[in-house]
Amino acid sequence: MASIVEPRVLGYEEARERVLDGVRPMPGEIVPLAEARGRALRESIRAPHPLPPFRNSSMDGYATRSDDLAGASRERPVELPVVEVLPAGRIASRALRAREAMRIMTGAALPEGADAVVPFEDSERIGGPGEGAPPGHPDPLERARFVRPMRPGENVREAGADLAAGDLALEEGRDLSPHDLALLAGLGVARLRVGPRPRAAIVSTGDELLPIEEPLRPGTIRDSNLPLLAALLEEAGCEVVSAVRVPDDPARVAARIREGLGEADVVLSIGGVSAGDFDPVKTGLGELSEIELWRVAMKPGRPQAFGRPGGRLFFGLPGNPASVACVFEALVRPALRRLQGFASLDRPRIRVRAAEAIESRAGRTDFVRAVLEQRSDAWWAAPAGAQISGHLTPQARAHALLIVPEPVTRLAPGDPADALVLRWPEPGPA
Ligand code: AMP
Ligand code: MG
Repeated sequence: MASIVEPRVLGYEEARERVLDGVRPMPGEIVPLAEARGRALRESIRAPHPLPPFRNSSMDGYATRSDDLAGASRERPVELPVVEVLPAGRIASRALRAREAMRIMTGAALPEGADAVVPFEDSERIGGPGEGAPPGHPDPLERARFVRPMRPGENVREAGADLAAGDLALEEGRDLSPHDLALLAGLGVARLRVGPRPRAAIVSTGDELLPIEEPLRPGTIRDSNLPLLAALLEEAGCEVVSAVRVPDDPARVAARIREGLGEADVVLSIGGVSAGDFDPVKTGLGELSEIELWRVAMKPGRPQAFGRPGGRLFFGLPGNPASVACVFEALVRPALRRLQGFASLDRPRIRVRAAEAIESRAGRTDFVRAVLEQRSDAWWAAPAGAQISGHLTPQARAHALLIVPEPVTRLAPGDPADALVLRWPEPGPA
């Protein structure tokens, strides 16, 4: 027979520590570069060669020796024969000698002896091309006229100027961006070690819940937490392997959670953990060892359950939509990020100023769903509507969760606070 256990009361920071304590990164996996975006880098990458790998031109123009152009001016132009044409990808057949120029394109290797590139805009072509010469070759009579001196190194990209061989390119634990992939591609890193995608199972509980497609009947609502949680999990790097709705039957809920623990690394239940007469997770948990009932002193999101049965992670989330969203950000997401090996666990945290007075209670951490506005002096945060845990619109409108720490009971307008950014305001009217 299922037994009812009394919940343990915890502060938010304490709960977070207990969740993160013992969450170790899962073993990494080797993937091709194209699959690495958004994953945690699980090795440090050093440059195997310099970037750029060779000295090359940053302009279309003429490779020259700056010494040859000393004193060049409109009045006393310098004219040099063009002895070779260098498209990107072609290496000069010989070094550039004194009083010679080579026509060179952006990205082509600079010939030995050259130390500056005069852009076409600052020069004049005399004779050629195309006058008797095949494409890519100078006309035998082609010359170029230069009307200003050049500094050594002008319009030249030195080998290793971007990154020297052996330099640290990317640090372990990094969240790989499209730009990181470009850097890795430039370095020839075709496959790399990244964090795995943890498998996640969702168990949504409630006799009143309907799938999206079904018409409402009296007393029923549609299950909004299941799609929310599935999307949050995917955004946080997980693969959702099952998402099942179960009626308020403790035995069935417990059975489904057990099945989830068999197929996934992380199991999350929704609802049924509070003190209601029909709360099946709370009641059914008596049958599952290694899971504790918690009352975390945070709002929204107090009653919940947590455990690490058989090395898996289990989160029993409260049922109210705002509570699901908040507990996910405050406790679940950091754990999922650590599982994957990310160095940073939270959403970007910024300093904001409260746009309105915000009341809280001592001994409780509040997460206020807030709309961000950038003013000239700072980011300002205003509550996104009434902070009612059952409402869906404030969460949809919110850009951030403003944190009112445990000892603080009131923020006056203009008071500073920290906020976790869920998404940045889009340009234009809200
Ligand atoms: P519970 O914790 O099961 O008592 O649920 C608390 C509140 O959240 C109730 O109003 C439920 O109807 C609501 N709720 C629970 N689960 C969901 C869900 N998956 N989608 C939308 N609302 C839910
Ligand atoms: Mg319920």
